[in-house]
Amino acid sequence: MLGFHPPLEPDEIPYSWLVTYCQLSGLPSARGLLEQLHIAHYQLASQFPGYIPFISGQSHVSAHEVIHEHTILPVFQPFLHPKTYSSAFANLATGRASNLHSRMSLVANRINSGTVLRACPECVESDAKTVGRAWWHVQHQLPGCLVCLKHSEPLLEVAVQRRALILPSEINLQHNDVLMNVDVQLTRLANDVWRSRTSLIAYQHITTRYRHRLVETGFASNIGAIRQDKLRHALRAYWAKSASPAVQQLLVDSSYPETLFRAKRAKFHPLKHLLLIGMLWGSWTDFCEYKPCECVTSDRAGAKVLNEGETDADILYLLQQGKSLRAVSEQCKRSVIYVKKFALQNNIPVKTRAKRIFGADIALIVGLLKDGIKTQQIATEVDYSVGAVEQVLSQHPGLVEKRHQMRFNAQCHKHQNCIIQALAEHPEYHRSDFQRECRASYSWLFKHDKDWLYSVMPEAIPRSKRRGGY
Ligand SMILES: [Zn+2]
Repeated sequence: MLGFHPPLEPDEIPYSWLVTYCQLSGLPSARGLLEQLHIAHYQLASQFPGYIPFISGQSHVSAHEVIHEHTILPVFQPFLHPKTYSSAFANLATGRASNLHSRMSLVANRINSGTVLRACPECVESDAKTVGRAWWHVQHQLPGCLVCLKHSEPLLEVAVQRRALILPSEINLQHNDVLMNVDVQLTRLANDVWRSRTSLIAYQHITTRYRHRLVETGFASNIGAIRQDKLRHALRAYWAKSASPAVQQLLVDSSYPETLFRAKRAKFHPLKHLLLIGMLWGSWTDFCEYKPCECVTSDRAGAKVLNEGETDADILYLLQQGKSLRAVSEQCKRSVIYVKKFALQNNIPVKTRAKRIFGADIALIVGLLKDGIKTQQIATEVDYSVGAVEQVLSQHPGLVEKRHQMRFNAQCHKHQNCIIQALAEHPEYHRSDFQRECRASYSWLFKHDKDWLYSVMPEAIPRSKRRGGY
């Protein structure tokens, strides 16, 4: 299109190059130019933009190199299954980036992405002096980054509108932010992950490392049960001074970091991993070079037996460790009655919780039930058996209905929030985009709260115009 265009600077993000390209075109309307190039409909400042093939073609840098050197995608690599990562990579390289945010769980994980850009005032000045123009650096855009590592300067943050074309030289460079040590640490961590490129650790070993380290540091018992509350509080305290809104938003989420250990092959935003790694190891190098203490691995060897199917031996082992019948039953997938019988046969004293509940405690339990707390959690807190708590519940039919309603409302909020967030991030979406990108929430709401769903959805496209009509 243009006879002359600037080279892609080392660590310049694609958006930055695109803005300069449009400015140099000399055309009165950048919008017209973008339309001509068929890229006007993209979220231009996205970290995963749809116009990589165009940039690659114009700047004679391979799409592979553009993604590797100029986007934040490599930060995701160690934390994603290799298949997920390579398919995200391929989509980005071929311009099919529209569903990348949801594929990478950025929507579900509620970490904002793409609409905020960061710049360092000193970089702006020195780039303008040495190269003649300022650009957006990829280091500054990494998740959780608040600091320019070259100048140790706090970064400035600007929200960028969907179609806006702006360069860091155009923003207000004044600030009086103070640097926090934890933010420097987090920035360095994200940068090291990004630079390490090829992953040093197999993806499936990451959670194993977490578990070993948690046992060593007292956040998990020897057979690997994680003390979630203790861990969550420690994480909150450790990162409390971070000035990053994304970090603070994560810390108030009560399911974090618990969910990180649950689902196999789940996709979590790298920031979720970085906060844990930062607290437990300090740096990416220490995490990569970590060798667990033998006391931990030998205990894990004991735990490993648990996974190899010798159920009765596992039951015996866990009972001898003093685990409750219910916990053993859950872990070994056998009924409580089976486990109890087995314990009696092997002369293991069984510690059961009280089954009969006394007056004052009933009121307490009813109160907790009213708050929607799970029966198992109540049982632990008040030290009665789960069956006893369930019996209290069954004596209050109104409560069952109320708890059902609370769970329903919580579901409803969760799904509505997902849609609301997608609406805010993608004002251009049609109904079919929501159906595709927020599939679970869309179908849940369609089934249970259609009125609300239709009240927020964009107008349906008339049937006659559905195919290529606009
Ligand atoms: Zn700088």
